Amino acid sequence: MRKPFIAGNWKMNKTDEEAVALAEGLVKEAGDLTDRTMLLCPPFTSLKSVYEVVKNSNIKLGAQTVYWEKSGAYTGMISADMLKSVGCTYVIVGHSEQRQYFGETDETVNKRIKVCLQEDLLPIMCVGELLEEREAGKAEEVVRTQITGGLTGISAEDMKKITIAYEPVWAIGTGKTATPEDADAMHASIRSVLKDLYNEDVAQSVVIQYGGSVKPDNVDELMSKENIDGALVGGAALKVDSFARIIKFQN
Ligand code: PEP
Repeated sequence: MRKPFIAGNWKMNKTDEEAVALAEGLVKEAGDLTDRTMLLCPPFTSLKSVYEVVKNSNIKLGAQTVYWEKSGAYTGMISADMLKSVGCTYVIVGHSEQRQYFGETDETVNKRIKVCLQEDLLPIMCVGELLEEREAGKAEEVVRTQITGGLTGISAEDMKKITIAYEPVWAIGTGKTATPEDADAMHASIRSVLKDLYNEDVAQSVVIQYGGSVKPDNVDELMSKENIDGALVGGAALKVDSFARIIKFQN
């Protein structure tokens, strides 16, 4: 049985004070919801202070990326150990904005996933096609390549610790959402890739989130789909009201 998993990716938004206020509002809203996993991913600068807000609640803390080296002369980078030391349990890896602007490749995604697993952090691996790839009928092939590359050398046992976020790039921050049917079809295709790479048990147990303009008014329908287990939310995660409605999805 896959547990629903709603995550908020705050990207490069919120001063520390604003981050604390948002987290405080969400802790009140999350109340005693225990049948779903809820995660906040603030910028690095607010991980510690948001952790202080959520630490006694049912909300978990995650980072937006991690560097794969343990320590040393890597100016600007943050290690897995550092993330753990401020209360992180999850890390988003391979977000399309990292791929688009900061040179993320399937190879670097793989390195980040490996360091997360070594250090007991739970990776959320983002995959998704560009608009022109979808229009050329290549969406499933692109996502298959990203998954295969990102998961190179990962065992079936470790795979069960990884969440996959399917985020069609053309739907991120654009207000365009994949139809629930198209998203569900891609999630089913991802399960079939996992079956090919591992086995049916892994394919059925991995949690697959959808991301791309998830909002209060479309979350229920998306979450009602068989293969959609959760959401990775950007813009609508930046306000208490909208993210509260999303974490309280009904299906
Ligand atoms: C994201 O940042 O992963 C995302 C899906 O953004 P948005 O919800 O704004 O489309």
